[in-house]
Amino acid sequence: RGRAEQYRPEMRTGLEATETTQARRHMERALRTAIENGALAVHYQPVVELPSGRITGVEALARWNDPVLGNVPPDQFIPLAETTGLILDLGEWVLRAACHQAARHTSGVQRDLTVSVNVSPVQLAQPGFVDVVMGALADSGLPARRLCVEVTETAAISNLAETTARLCELRRRGVQIALDDFGTGHSSLTMLRGLPLSIVKIDRSFVAKVTRSAQDAVLVRLVIETAHTLGLRVCAEGIEDAEQAQQLVAMGCDLAQGWYFGMPEPAFERSSATTMAVSRVRGALVRGRSSV
Ligand code: C2E
Ligand code: MG
Ligand code: MG
Ligand code: MG
Repeated sequence: RGRAEQYRPEMRTGLEATETTQARRHMERALRTAIENGALAVHYQPVVELPSGRITGVEALARWNDPVLGNVPPDQFIPLAETTGLILDLGEWVLRAACHQAARHTSGVQRDLTVSVNVSPVQLAQPGFVDVVMGALADSGLPARRLCVEVTETAAISNLAETTARLCELRRRGVQIALDDFGTGHSSLTMLRGLPLSIVKIDRSFVAKVTRSAQDAVLVRLVIETAHTLGLRVCAEGIEDAEQAQQLVAMGCDLAQGWYFGMPEPAFERSSATTMAVSRVRGALVRGRSSV
């Protein structure tokens, strides 16, 4: 309109920022709708005992398949849910779904499986968090000892005193507590000592390199030994091949999880299929044990 303006790179950035904000708003609305309509899903990944390969539990992982956005990965929608407060409803929904699923499986191979549920720092910061968990257990009929609450180091760090008190209360009532993604946060050793933990989960970034990097192998060994000294069990996350499994067995790791043992599956029932897959790899584990 009778005016010229010279292009500056910031103009493009500004436009992109607006588009990003709009995309975010759209995603937020879609997520809110999905939670309200119960359109999210929970998938379950087996957790096996080493060296037997026997399934002892499953981890519940939230899934969101939106009609417009398609499959949105948790690494995208969980942070969005956390910054918008939607994580409170989302987290309670996952917790209730997981407890109900687990409570229905009282016979067969799946008998007494533990179900692990990821809990956000935002949920842990709520004064009513313990009541939410106890409510989910009471309504589903799941015994407290069959639930494991997974917290991350970052979750544990903000407001450590209150967080610790809440987790102690849950532990006192029989719920297991796991420290997730161990090694990626801060003050790891303080967390190990101060929190009422049952399990430490070694982050998959260490497991991924355990057979290739001597340094990572030393760190993983150190974590396992330290945890054992403190009376905790160790779970290795993200085991993708036999070599990694064998290495972890040789290091005395108690539990394992990863694509090698089983993918996250839409239904609890699929765990029995995984049990068969696992019995096939048992031989490999035992061979690994004697050769490492
Ligand atoms: P996480 O709790 O550490 O869960 C393990 C992640 O590793 C899952 O990713 C799982 O699918 C993936 N995984 C399992 N085995 C392997 C493997 O062998 N190789 C590789 N590369 N990956 C493997 P997912 O499902 O994408 O979830 C990512 C993160 O999102 C979770 O990490 C958890 O922190 C968070 N999340 C998922 N569901 C929930 C939820 O209901 N509530 C909260 N607060 N966070 C959740
Ligand atoms: Mg987890
Ligand atoms: Mg987690
Ligand atoms: Mg993890």
